[in-house]
Parts: sequence; C-alpha cells; structure tokens
Amino acid sequence: MIVASLRWRTVSDACLFCSIVAGDLPASVVAGDDAAIAFLDINPLTTGHTLVVPRRHVTDLLDADGAVAEVSPLLESTGRLLVDRLGADGINVFQASRAPAGQTVFHLHFHLLPRWSGDGMLNVHSIRTQVREDRDTTFARLTG
Ligand code: AMP
Ligand code: ZN
Repeated sequence: MIVASLRWRTVSDACLFCSIVAGDLPASVVAGDDAAIAFLDINPLTTGHTLVVPRRHVTDLLDADGAVAEVSPLLESTGRLLVDRLGADGINVFQASRAPAGQTVFHLHFHLLPRWSGDGMLNVHSIRTQVREDRDTTFARLTG
C-alpha cells in the first residue's frame, strides 16, 4: 500500500527497499543521488554485486511511471564505479519484473553484476532456449 508521496519519494509500508532508502534498515550504500541509491546486494552473485533502486516506490518495470529514466544516471555512474574501483572487465545488468521472472523484492531494482574474464558465471548466450513460436509469428503479434 502506498502511504505517502513527495516529489521524489513515494514510500510503501513493509517494503524492504523503501526501508533502506529511508535509512531505517542498514545497507552498504555505495552511491546515490536525488532520485536513486546504489547498495551492495546482501547475497552477492559476483564481487561487487550492486542494486540500483529509485528512491520512490514503484514495484517493477511494468509499473515504473518514468522511474527507469530517473535511475539511469546512477546506473551508469555506478557501473563505472564498479569497473574503476574493482577492476571488473565488464558488467551485466539484470532486472526481474514480477514473480514469474524471478522478482522477490517488489520495489524496482537493477542488478549490476561485475564480471571478469573467465569468471565462469553464466553467460546469457549459453542459456537453453525457451522459445515457444517462430520469430515471424512473434513479430506479427508485436506489430500487427
Ligand atoms: P530480485 O530477486 O531480482 O527481486 O532481487 C532481490 C535481491 O535483493 C536479491 O539479490 C537479494 O539478495 C537482495 N536483497 C534482499 N534483501 C536485501 C537487503 N536487506 N540488502 C541488500 N540486498 C538485499
Ligand atoms: Zn519500496
């Protein structure tokens, strides 16, 4: 439930990431600006795994209401921070919207996963295909 709304802040009760934004829950915040904060994931998949979240509460990409644009400057600068300070060779950006996609915290967040050459982490191109129809049919459904 949305309980308050300010210019940059819409807070939701019982939301983990709203509590972190408000400073009510501890987090390892590595960067922030007026619109967003970046903090280390509590259960990192790679060294420096960081979450970038808008300060205002929106649940996911499908409910974002412009929040993606608001977080993008911090997304870019935090990516650079991870490469510059940790010596990462690359970055994956991952975002889950809704439970079937794997979302577990329902406050929009982008995972920044620093990557190193030969680190053995899953590469998106090695995931087995789950395609259910041919590309022409999909194209027609999207554009028809
Ligand atoms: P997702 O499954 O995409 O919704 O990602 C949620 C992420 O939030 C997971 O990677 C968790 O490890 C992370 N997480 C959960 N609680 C905290 C917390 N208190 N501080 C930092 N990261 C958290
Ligand atoms: Zn929230």
